Amino acid sequence: MSARPGDFTETIKKLLADRAGHECSMPYCRVRTVGPGAAATQTAKVGQASHIYSAGLNGPRGRGGLSDDQLADPSNGIWTCELHGKDVDNNKGDAFPAGLLRSWKELHEARVKRMSTGAPAERWVERVRFMRTPLFEPDSVLYLGKVTVIGGTNGAGKTAICEWVGAVRDKGLLDRWTGSLALHAINLEISFTSDKEHVLGMGIPVGGTARFTLDGAPQLAPPLAIDTVFLRERYLPPDAEDDLRGLAKFFSVDADTIRLVAEEVGASGNKRFRHMGFEPVPLDEGEPPESVIHEDGAPKMQLIVETYSPAERYPLSNFSGSVHTEVLLSMAIELAKFKSRSLPTLLLIEAAGWGFAKEVFRQVAGPIDECAKHCQVIIIEPHNRLDRTRMHEHEWVQYEIDMPPITRGLPRPPAKLKLQ
Ligand SMILES: [Zn+2]
Repeated sequence: MSARPGDFTETIKKLLADRAGHECSMPYCRVRTVGPGAAATQTAKVGQASHIYSAGLNGPRGRGGLSDDQLADPSNGIWTCELHGKDVDNNKGDAFPAGLLRSWKELHEARVKRMSTGAPAERWVERVRFMRTPLFEPDSVLYLGKVTVIGGTNGAGKTAICEWVGAVRDKGLLDRWTGSLALHAINLEISFTSDKEHVLGMGIPVGGTARFTLDGAPQLAPPLAIDTVFLRERYLPPDAEDDLRGLAKFFSVDADTIRLVAEEVGASGNKRFRHMGFEPVPLDEGEPPESVIHEDGAPKMQLIVETYSPAERYPLSNFSGSVHTEVLLSMAIELAKFKSRSLPTLLLIEAAGWGFAKEVFRQVAGPIDECAKHCQVIIIEPHNRLDRTRMHEHEWVQYEIDMPPITRGLPRPPAKLKLQ
């Protein structure tokens, strides 16, 4: 049979199979794709090299703008069992976007490497399973890519996802889901890899407090197994916006950490900011000395930001709102990078209409992709503001929360998490 342009050669198929350890790369499958055949001299093979972007003109996931040579390159292939080879191509591959397949391939190859060489595990949060929640269909699963975008209308449950996942670091995020006023039980599981594969469980009984488990064993507090940074700009009080203590509180870290993070933004080759650092607030003429001192006697420190073009140097509060957004995003990214050195880390961004809209996508996509080399990013954003085409180009995994219409007087119907 003659090969089409873009098809994999036998050599590349073997390469993909070997790199996958002859196992299906789907995280929930991993079936062995080779074994003994009927006769003592035979093997039975049930694996296949699947294309991430399609070799055909109108195939699953399209051609992704790749040339025939690029389509036939091993970087465009993922090793699967026969069943999942068919699955990933059903309905034009709608349920398996390229970004997700690529994440799974990398995850699986890292796992095989770890098993075969003892190499350190790639830190990765694979999925969140919502077994029981007041918002989503039972057993809804969110598979995380390097960057995962969750769109949905107001009230669809985007923020809830960030609060539940962010609770592994900060239990305070569960305030509206716990205690005597909470009417619903919540159970979810986060599957992740650090030294090996783990499952972190969180359960909240009706009217109770959150309980955590790690690999099934009950924990006294959220286990320090995954870390998160939660950026939600609208919760930053205006007077805290350039204050050292205010920013430390906003990012749920201590003041020394936030100092380091600010310095790192300038030092890390950020294209927008030459330098960031904290300096004592100067005393204006006629103001009482207490105005620049905290109640405990420590001087108030403000964030001084130095930009490249135009070259400016002011306290953050002197800059416009869009610069604030960029500063906070840059700090969140550096903090997440710091944290990802020791634990699998999720940067949760509640964009709330300010950051990922079509007009500014170009500006934020670069830093986000850079951050995703170190940790995973989850972005929530009102769906009508998302530039889905561009996000596909960046191979960001995209979900939409599909909420059925609410009938007055009836309980809220459960929403679906749908891959886009
Ligand atoms: Zn499979």
